[in-house]
Amino acid sequence: MSILLFCSLSLFVGTMADRYWLMRAGEATNRLDRLGDRLKALISIGFGQKRLLYETGPGWMHVGIFAGFLVVSLRTITLIGRGYDAHFNLPFFDGPVGLAYAVVKDSFALILLAALAYAAIRRLVTRPSRLHLSAEANLILLWIASLIVSDLLGDAAMMRLEPGSHEEGYAWVSTALVGVFSGSETATVQTWFNVMFWYHNIAVLAFLNFLPFGKHFHVLTALPAVFLARLTPSASLEKMEFEGMETFGVGKLEDFNWRRFLDMYTCTECGRCTDMCPADVTGKPLSPRAIIVDERDSAYAMADHLTAVGKLKGAGKTTEAAALIEAFERPSLIGDVNDEEAIWACTTCGYCQTHCPVMIDHIPNIIDQRRHLVMMEAKVPTVLQGALKGLENNSNPWNVSAAGREDWIGELDVPRMRDKGQADYLLFVGCAGSYDSRNVEVMKALVSLLNEADVDYAVLGTEEGCCGDPARRVGHEYLFQMQAPQNIATFQKYKVGKVVTACPHCFNMIANEYPDFGLEEVEVIHHSELLSELVDQGKLKLKGGEKTKVTFHDSCYLGRHNDIYEAPRKVLNAVDGLEMVEMERHGREGFCCGAGGGRMFMEEDIGSRINHNRIDEAAETGADEVCTACPFCLTMLGDAIKETERSDTLKARDIAEVMLENLER
Ligand code: SF4
Ligand code: SF4
Repeated sequence: MSILLFCSLSLFVGTMADRYWLMRAGEATNRLDRLGDRLKALISIGFGQKRLLYETGPGWMHVGIFAGFLVVSLRTITLIGRGYDAHFNLPFFDGPVGLAYAVVKDSFALILLAALAYAAIRRLVTRPSRLHLSAEANLILLWIASLIVSDLLGDAAMMRLEPGSHEEGYAWVSTALVGVFSGSETATVQTWFNVMFWYHNIAVLAFLNFLPFGKHFHVLTALPAVFLARLTPSASLEKMEFEGMETFGVGKLEDFNWRRFLDMYTCTECGRCTDMCPADVTGKPLSPRAIIVDERDSAYAMADHLTAVGKLKGAGKTTEAAALIEAFERPSLIGDVNDEEAIWACTTCGYCQTHCPVMIDHIPNIIDQRRHLVMMEAKVPTVLQGALKGLENNSNPWNVSAAGREDWIGELDVPRMRDKGQADYLLFVGCAGSYDSRNVEVMKALVSLLNEADVDYAVLGTEEGCCGDPARRVGHEYLFQMQAPQNIATFQKYKVGKVVTACPHCFNMIANEYPDFGLEEVEVIHHSELLSELVDQGKLKLKGGEKTKVTFHDSCYLGRHNDIYEAPRKVLNAVDGLEMVEMERHGREGFCCGAGGGRMFMEEDIGSRINHNRIDEAAETGADEVCTACPFCLTMLGDAIKETERSDTLKARDIAEVMLENLER
């Protein structure tokens, strides 16, 4: 046993040291802050497997394997101890605790075997499209099954050799298996015991050494990955520092922070991220799984170089590390490893990262590569250049005059902050609400509702600028960092305490990203939340409208990224006569409209259109209207209705418009 442990553990430590130094090739990032929150994530997502519990079938299967593994691992430690002392038990396991464990362990062994059988049937028979055939996965299933069977049979042989052993009856599966040896010679049973015992111990230590070489490395890295996950809101991006920096974004593997390497080690290739990625579903060359797997393959292909860089960085020799990186010939990250089109195809909808069971972050990785393309290589899709110019010159992506930002108000009774000085709410109108004719109608409906409810609000008018979302999502961090501070300074000038906005992108930006740039103590609410509150307070009364069937489309930046699912539905449900029907993909599973991540301002000329896919689903519900609470979604769905020639049967409206139509004045 000592020789076995020495050989296998030395090999394992050597492999893990290599993996560690490779990871150190990445840049620094602090993932040891907020220890309480990290512990909570570890308990709920790591040990509690929260993200897998949403899925019946494969999710529960994984939970079964994970739980079985945890329980059975104590037994493995015991068996290693029995290599030294045949009656070894873990501390406190000699009495009732050990007997209770024997019952639980045998029960979990059976659960684990059932889960493995289910996994094998999925892989070999039903073969869902998201699973890639993999010999490694089949081997691992067999390997784990053999570990369990060898333990149960070895235990049964031991009970036959030592009748009346204190675990007999408690280790109920092994007890039932004792019959397998009835009629066998003692010497034969002894041989069975020896073979099972040594097979189990050798196989388990070999398994440990095999893990770091394949996708099952996650067995070891998943819990640390969850503990060391990014804890900032899902759609917020890391603030870039420009001072003293020579390179921006990620153009090669060493530009990633070390966490990205941990992500590479941890990806199980389960495909949950890609399952409903709007880009992948509609035939774009983007698969979040392929991105991380290809980056991992590339990292392993240049492992010697990365390990050397990691050791230099670890020793604080940054100049030498930089020289080594500079001199190393390698395939380009964007172009050879990742398709450039794939980097631009992401809508930042967040489906991938909110469904990844091991908390791998796809969006920051993609945006970091956009940052490199935009700020280092000046590579911007042609059609996007106009929007960036508009943002730079007029602080709106349509490049309409900044002086015309409040033209939408016309004769309406809409107070300006510059006249009022202060108000309970700052209504942040956003670029779409200010300039896009369809969304101007929504904004007019919203201010009518606020006036009707006597809400004390004001707008910034020409003092408002783009929130910065389009610039930031397409990777133009420099432009974004020119815009955000201007809005923040204006908020501070008027001592703004509450901001309400009808745009989930503005909402996300002001609530989750402006605080990194100095915005403090400002409450940000979405118009769906305010309208829902006003209904609750009786300040807005809704009368019964015509009988209509309505479906609600969740905006990714409202729902998935900010967890606001109920408020807009509550507003719609408050209208009598309105029948709500849900699309199959709704709530957390909602499907993107295709406009996020700056895609609103790019061409979609590969594959089918994301908004058509979504509107087909809305039409399938038989609804007369598809409602939304986001200007980008409204535009995309409205366009899709026209393009798929459904204007006679389906319309798209914002919840504020539906409310205004049904308002009892
Ligand atoms: S954020 Fe959305 S579009 Fe981008 S990779 Fe993830 S699932 Fe695909
Ligand atoms: S990134 Fe996450 S969801 Fe995607 S394949 Fe890897 S483990 Fe699965």
